[in-house]
Amino acid sequence: MATAYITHPSFVLHEMGAAHPESPARLGAIDDQLTADGTLPLLLYREAPRASDEQITRIHTREYLRHLHAVSPPQGYYRLDPDTQLNPHSLEAANHAAGAAVMAVEAVMAGEAKNAFCAVRPPGHHALKDRAMGFCIFNNVAIGAAHALEQFGLGRVAIVDFDVHHGNGTEASFRDDPRVLLCSVFQHPLYPNMPLDDSRPNMVHVPLPPGTGSEEFQQAVSTRILPAVDHFAPELILVSAGFDGHFEDDLAQWDLLESDYFWITREIVTLAERHCTGRVVSVLEGGYAMNALGRSVAAHIRGLLRIGGTVK
Ligand SMILES: [Zn+2]
Repeated sequence: MATAYITHPSFVLHEMGAAHPESPARLGAIDDQLTADGTLPLLLYREAPRASDEQITRIHTREYLRHLHAVSPPQGYYRLDPDTQLNPHSLEAANHAAGAAVMAVEAVMAGEAKNAFCAVRPPGHHALKDRAMGFCIFNNVAIGAAHALEQFGLGRVAIVDFDVHHGNGTEASFRDDPRVLLCSVFQHPLYPNMPLDDSRPNMVHVPLPPGTGSEEFQQAVSTRILPAVDHFAPELILVSAGFDGHFEDDLAQWDLLESDYFWITREIVTLAERHCTGRVVSVLEGGYAMNALGRSVAAHIRGLLRIGGTVK
C-alpha cells in the first residue's frame, strides 16, 4: 500500500520576512531532493483541504480562531509572537496545514494509504490552544490526533516528536488525556525552555544535551521511547517530524545525520506494523538548513516506504 504525500500551494505563500529561517524555500528544498532521488513518483500525491473550524477547535479556542481572522493582514505582517507573524496568506496556509494532518489520518484509517507524510508550513507543535508560538499557528499534529480520537473513536494514539525542540503545545493539548501517549526527544536546554513536568505517565520526555550525536540519540530513543510506544500498543502513530537536530542546522546544537532520521522512521514503522497495520501519519515540523532538510526528509520518506538505505 502507498505512502501519501500531502501538501498545498498555499504553504509557500506564507512567509515571515526574508531573514526568517522558517521560509518557503524549505518546501522547495524537500521537493528538489525527492525529485532528484526519484522518490516523488512513488508517492500518492494529495492536495490538503482546509481544516474545518470544528476540527481546529478540538484543540484551539474559538476566541483564538476569531482573533486570527480579525488580525489577518490584507497586506504586510501582523506579529502574533516574537517569532511568528501572519502575512496575507498565512491563515490560509495554516488552515491547509491542519487540514493535511486531518486528511492523512483519514487516508490511513480508510486504508487508502499505509502511511502519510504531510509537507506543511507553518509547523505546529509549539502552538497553544489560545496562542501562536515559535513559528507555529495551529497545532497540526494535535489536530490530526484529535480527529483520530473523535472521528474514528480511537482509544490509543501515540505521538512521537523528534524535532530538536520540545513539543510543548502538543503536551499542553494532551497531558490530561490518557488516550494519547506523547514521546518527545529534544535538546535541553533549548527553546521553548519550559520546566519539564514528568508527573504524567502519558508524557514521556527525553531531554538530551547540546552535542548529542547519532549514538546518544539512538540509544535514548531505543531505551526510552520505542519501549513506551510498544507497551502502549497504539492504534495509530503520529510523528512530529522535525529535522532541526541535523548537524548542519544552526537552530540547535545536535549532530544528527539523515541516517538517524531513516533509522527512527524504520523503528516507528516497525512498531506501527506490529500494533496498527502500519498506520503512521508524519507531519513536518522544523528543519532549517535547506540541503540537510531535503536529504533528511528524503531519508524519512524512504523509511516510510521501507525502501533503500541501511539502518546505522
Ligand atoms: Zn524545532
